[in-house]
Amino acid sequence: MKKLLAVACAAVMSHWAVAQEKGILGQEDSPNVALKSINIGDCKWTEGFWADKFDVAEHSMVPYMGEVLTGDVGHALNNFKIAAGMKEGEHKGMRWHDGDFYKWMEAAMYVYAQNGDEKIKEEIDGYIDIISKAQEEDGYLQTFIQLTDNVDRYENRKYHEMYNSGHLLTSACIHYRITGERKFLDIAIKHADLLYTIFSPSTKQYGRFGFNQTQIMGLVELYRTTKDKRYLDLAEIFINNRGKYKVEDHPTTVGYPIGDMVQERTPLRESSEAVGHAVLALYYYAGAADVAAETGEQALVDALDRLWENVTEQKMYVTGAVGQAHYGASSHRDKIEEGFIGEYMMPNMTAYNETCANVCNSMFSYRMLGLHGESKYADVMELVLYNSALSGISIEGKNYFYSNPLRMVNGSRDYKLHNTETPHRLPYLECFCCPPNLVRTIAKSSAWAYSLSKNGIAVNLYGGNRLDTKLEDGSTLILNQVTNYPWEGSVNITVEKCKKDAFDMMLRIPEWAVGTTVKVNGEAVKTKVENGKFTTINRKWRKGDIICIDMPMETKLVEGHPRIEEARNQVAVKRGPVVYCMETPDLPEDAQILDVYIQGNAPLVASYNKDLLGGITTVETTLLIRTNQSESKMYNTVDKPEFKQYKTKLVPYYSWSNRGDAEMTVFMPVVWSDL
Ligand SMILES: [Zn+2]
Repeated sequence: MKKLLAVACAAVMSHWAVAQEKGILGQEDSPNVALKSINIGDCKWTEGFWADKFDVAEHSMVPYMGEVLTGDVGHALNNFKIAAGMKEGEHKGMRWHDGDFYKWMEAAMYVYAQNGDEKIKEEIDGYIDIISKAQEEDGYLQTFIQLTDNVDRYENRKYHEMYNSGHLLTSACIHYRITGERKFLDIAIKHADLLYTIFSPSTKQYGRFGFNQTQIMGLVELYRTTKDKRYLDLAEIFINNRGKYKVEDHPTTVGYPIGDMVQERTPLRESSEAVGHAVLALYYYAGAADVAAETGEQALVDALDRLWENVTEQKMYVTGAVGQAHYGASSHRDKIEEGFIGEYMMPNMTAYNETCANVCNSMFSYRMLGLHGESKYADVMELVLYNSALSGISIEGKNYFYSNPLRMVNGSRDYKLHNTETPHRLPYLECFCCPPNLVRTIAKSSAWAYSLSKNGIAVNLYGGNRLDTKLEDGSTLILNQVTNYPWEGSVNITVEKCKKDAFDMMLRIPEWAVGTTVKVNGEAVKTKVENGKFTTINRKWRKGDIICIDMPMETKLVEGHPRIEEARNQVAVKRGPVVYCMETPDLPEDAQILDVYIQGNAPLVASYNKDLLGGITTVETTLLIRTNQSESKMYNTVDKPEFKQYKTKLVPYYSWSNRGDAEMTVFMPVVWSDL
């Protein structure tokens, strides 16, 4: 009888409990989230742009990356095997290599959640067994420390233990949500308990330790999964510690820049400027947004609002990329690597724009979308995804960029000095943080496409897909979205199943989509349709209802803020969310990218080419190529330059460098007069 009762209770619970238990973020009980994650796997790309990208992720990106990381070149699995006593050898790869392997595992799990291929799960489960054997009795796990002589646990933050911990916790939570199995989760719990023991007491030794702070996001996810509040408390401690201690050299900081570089000069709640290493900063802000989602602390939310505005309005490229400089300094004169410099300082050719930083920008924005429920955050996610994220990987999915500048000029850089900046994508990067970060993002992108609102659903990203989910009240909602977005601006969403009561359908009208119209069953909606906002339609929806969103997909010239000196008198070409570039394969052989000008009055004609670069819409125009080049001295007198007209096409920025070595530019000097 007791057993029967338990079964009955469980049935009632599962019916009445909050609908989502497998969210990409486990926000089902988060009290301060306006738009919550849908379950992983509830939305599947069906056709078009993202279905094609997911197909490449499923069949090329994830399996190929797995081969590399589990083989001798990548050596990531070997490190775990050696630590587990299953193999002879020594640690190879960066100190953060474990974390990058966890990211790849996460990507593989997203693919499994979509296609149900048991071979993927079996493979991952095999790796979890090895990781479990590599974990020490007290929960410690980091193969670099375990396999290297003369280094000790938590003696120096540059060993990236927190980074590896964060990705371990996140990956394990995702594995648990998708499979319902605890093996990986138990490893994470054992590890997080050790972190709690060491880092929850307030000590000067460890107070400045967390610096590449993925552990904050990981701890919040672990709290959401286990409901053990110690993990949330520890996440908050890592935030509270930043800026609390005097910035001075210390044994735990030897060998890595201090101060603004690692966001420790100013407490987060007092910050209004994004500083330092861009990946470190954005993981930190994203983690803080997760904490705010649980605690609702206004001072934290206010700080994150200021930081998000600072990033996106004063330090972000037109491609959504961030981290302007490989090296430089903050306004406090702290050394900065791979990070943010001053506002509106936006070099094109030397832009660093690490793929991870761009991806982190979208992760931060996704969390801010959750907190505030405003469409501007999804605009940035979309901008990043179509441009500075996808540029990090080749069309066929096997070669990677670490750095994503907006202009490439042959012979302009010494690539031996700048070894993370390469003239073309490479099949393996010794520092392998970016490739799995990007691939897991592509693999989970369908889970970002929709969010749950209090009484309905928000459409964040457009793309051919099928959504089969449950609203907050547990009722089933099935939608079918048909579109050729981003190449075309019309989107049709058909309701296939829904509850009888009225609910909200929130449609993101992108900032660029001026003049968008929305119809339901052929009739224009009465709700005001405003670009840069969600249009919310509340009605009693019925099976067969069709929403038609028509976004004018016009090709436009974009100029920078007048204070961006590096973009003065230059324009970029943008069509919908896609930023275009000029690449030398589309110029005469002897032309160089620095000779190219754009005519402000020349028509820009978009046309789809299914056989080019995986299927893209190109923009045809007539450019000007300067024929009397400037002399090569630093400064030269100038008469009227001479130009020849050249009819050619521009390609999406993300697709550049897939046709051999090339020069490329996003911004081009503009000539407005008739010639
Ligand atoms: Zn990276």
